[in-house]
Amino acid sequence: MPDRDKALSIADPHQLFRNSLEQATDAVFVLNADNRVIFLNAAAEALYGACRTQVVGMHIDTLVQRLPGIGNAAHAAGPGPDSEGLSPLPAVQIQRRDGTLRFGYVAESRTRLGDATLHTLLVKESAGASREGHPLLSVIADEIDSAVLVVDADWRIVYANAGLTRMLGFTPGEMAGKTPAELLAGEFTDPAVMHRLQTPRPTAATERHEALVYARCGSPLWVSATVRHLGRADGAQHHGIVILSDITQKKTYELLQRKVLHAMVMEQPLPAVMELICQEVQRVAPAVIASVLRVDADRRLHTLAAPGLPPHYCAALEGLNAGPMTGSCGTAAWFGEPVVVSDIATDPLWDGYRDLALPLGLAACWSYPIKAGDGRVLATLAFYYRTVRRPDAFHLQLVEVCVALCKLAFEREEAAERILQLDRYDSLTGLPNRSLLQRQAATLLLATQQAGATLSVLFVDLDRFKHINDSLGHAGGDKLLREVAVRLAAQAGDGALVARLSGDEFALVLPNSDRTQTIAAGERLLAALRQPLRIDHVSIAPSASIGISMFPVDGDALDYLLHCAEMAMYDAKAAGRNLFRFFSIEMNWAAQERLALESALREALIGEELHLNFQPQVFLRDGRLYGLEVLVRWQHPHFGTVSPARFVPLAEDSGLIGTLDRWVLEQSCAQLAAWRREGLSVPTISVNISPASFRDPTLPAQVAQTLSRHGLPAEALMLEMTEGLLMEDDASLAATVAAIHAQGVRLSMDDFGTGYSSLGYLRQLPVHQLKLDKSFVIDLESDAAARELASAVIRIGDSLKLAVVAEGVENEAQRCFLLSQGCRMGQGYLFSRPLDAAAVAQWIATPRPPAEPGDRHSQR
Ligand code: C2E
Ligand code: MG
Ligand code: MG
Repeated sequence: MPDRDKALSIADPHQLFRNSLEQATDAVFVLNADNRVIFLNAAAEALYGACRTQVVGMHIDTLVQRLPGIGNAAHAAGPGPDSEGLSPLPAVQIQRRDGTLRFGYVAESRTRLGDATLHTLLVKESAGASREGHPLLSVIADEIDSAVLVVDADWRIVYANAGLTRMLGFTPGEMAGKTPAELLAGEFTDPAVMHRLQTPRPTAATERHEALVYARCGSPLWVSATVRHLGRADGAQHHGIVILSDITQKKTYELLQRKVLHAMVMEQPLPAVMELICQEVQRVAPAVIASVLRVDADRRLHTLAAPGLPPHYCAALEGLNAGPMTGSCGTAAWFGEPVVVSDIATDPLWDGYRDLALPLGLAACWSYPIKAGDGRVLATLAFYYRTVRRPDAFHLQLVEVCVALCKLAFEREEAAERILQLDRYDSLTGLPNRSLLQRQAATLLLATQQAGATLSVLFVDLDRFKHINDSLGHAGGDKLLREVAVRLAAQAGDGALVARLSGDEFALVLPNSDRTQTIAAGERLLAALRQPLRIDHVSIAPSASIGISMFPVDGDALDYLLHCAEMAMYDAKAAGRNLFRFFSIEMNWAAQERLALESALREALIGEELHLNFQPQVFLRDGRLYGLEVLVRWQHPHFGTVSPARFVPLAEDSGLIGTLDRWVLEQSCAQLAAWRREGLSVPTISVNISPASFRDPTLPAQVAQTLSRHGLPAEALMLEMTEGLLMEDDASLAATVAAIHAQGVRLSMDDFGTGYSSLGYLRQLPVHQLKLDKSFVIDLESDAAARELASAVIRIGDSLKLAVVAEGVENEAQRCFLLSQGCRMGQGYLFSRPLDAAAVAQWIATPRPPAEPGDRHSQR
């Protein structure tokens, strides 16, 4: 190794150069052609940490190593032979004798001294964590968002960029000489990860770890640490570079969000989603013990998830009433505002609960309300801590994310419940629908069976609901249905199930109810339903027909019991409505027949099975023909002759009535036109029109078209409406009737006296005649009351200047009585049974002896 004297043997003329190098504050190494040091100044001695005799002769590469990066491309190519002066300043590290590292920039120059070329290296040091010596590299490093640390072989920080200060708040002075672990580890930092991060590797290697570290202010954050070990050629570790990137966002929010959203997508139940949120919070923020409490409609708290809290603590808080001084959660639920209690031991909000929390080591609790869109507090999210502390930025961000996720989960649950509600409950009345009734009844039936008890199933169908709906409009109909639901539910009794099956059909299941109790319930229900109610200023008295089946005698499954009850309900309808009937096996046959009949009727309307009969209406005094009432007949190949009393209500129920009435009207007019062409004198025909057709606003036009199609004058036609229509104080019905009247077509009130028509309304309707119902006429001889009523009806007709036609006149006595009371027209077997068209011609052509004129004395 060349010695110091040899270096000093440089000739005197160079003394000046030597002296000036010696004075330089930067380290100077002078190299020979082999890049070995032949001279170094005092600054270089200090930089390397050894006296110059130890350095002279060393290869420069063992002293100064170029760092990859800025300025080093030119350097890496090596100084060119003609390069004079200073090249750009490449960054270098100085491997000191004691193994520690120093950093600096290097300037090189070549100087010719005689034949020799001296290669001079000027190293400007950037000592330790100070960056003054690295202007360019430092500027770049400082621009990086990540924290960049350079550690020496002892893993002590010798350099840190500004990113570290930005990320963690430490000043360079606080960092210098510390290991990254000393600087960054905190209460919940995983020691194993820190250990790996701190362990030097003998060879060049890169490792990546994720760690929870703490900023200067104590707030935790997640970092990804990339450690680059720079091994020395001899295998010894000489330094490392640690790059820290803040992954708090990714680690916490993104991951947390992704996991929680995934759970929601997988339709996990709410408590499971809340559990996951709490667990995730505790994973990313180990200082936190998280819990979620549901706040019910009565503002009571119920634990949904609290994976880090002992069960007895949750049990003690179960059902807690929210209030203004009820710990963190109860108070947050009460005010709908976050409540931060940083010291449970002293905060008065915890006065009543402290003894629960403190023994468990719970020292602080922050609670945040989770609110619905309408401001209701649905739940509270609590962060408990084992130390007294106030919120920090990281945990606040975590709270923000979790509250949003909880809100989403709760909203999702509410939406799911709404869907379930829609699926199981009737939206109009709020009653269970058929499918929920089925589930509920299944349990009830099982329990009843096990107890050996009985129960009853009631099928409730409103009477004339369609008619109310048509005349009051759907809003009115809806109001009625809601009211009926309320009344049924109020009367059903404890443990009963009440459901809306469809339209105006409701079902009740009365547990532990025998026949006697069911009769009492049926009467109670009918009485409650009958109470009048006002809908849009119209007072209506609803009624219902109820069919009842009993478990277990009638059946053991709800579906079948409902079917039986429905049969019984039809029986109740047929028996006059507003009453209840118990199921009997015969009803089943009747119902099957009814179904068959309904489908047969559809075919009859298309086919040739319907035909018309005509029944003469005569002047009671002399038997002259006044008009013909058209009565439809159905001759079915299998059912035989079906009475209109049977199939007209069926046609009304099944929506076929409009078609039927139009068909009868058409056929009647065609027949009358034919008779008139034949010269047969038929003054008028009376066609029965059912209430549903009267509610059809196109009826006047249909009537007009039919008449004109057959060339008939309006006076040739009379339309019979039933008294039931009079109960409807309906403007559109009145308009239809008025339009028919305006055409000159007359209207007759059929079956008068059987209903409860308002005489006031009758007066307003342009009705031309009344038909005294045959029930009065038939009883005339036997029943004084019938006589009174018949006389009253005749007087009403008189006073309203209406013609009165008595129906069902079967004998002379009736004819005479009616005549004596001033009734002028009649219809009945006494004069003629309903006849087919051919027989009508014959009947008219047959001369009859004039009837005995009746008078008051013929009255019995
Ligand atoms: P309605 O309009 O009151 O018809 C009178 C009913 O009394 C007819 O029964 C008729 O045959 C019957 N009748 C006639 N004279 C006597 C008698 O002296 N004694 C007795 N006991 N009964 C007598 P029908 O034909 O069975 O009709 C029953 C009901 O069916 C009718 O009552 C009417 O409301 C309805 N109807 C009949 N044809 C039609 C139709 O074409 N369209 C509509 N919408 N309803 C009809
Ligand atoms: Mg009639
Ligand atoms: Mg009648």
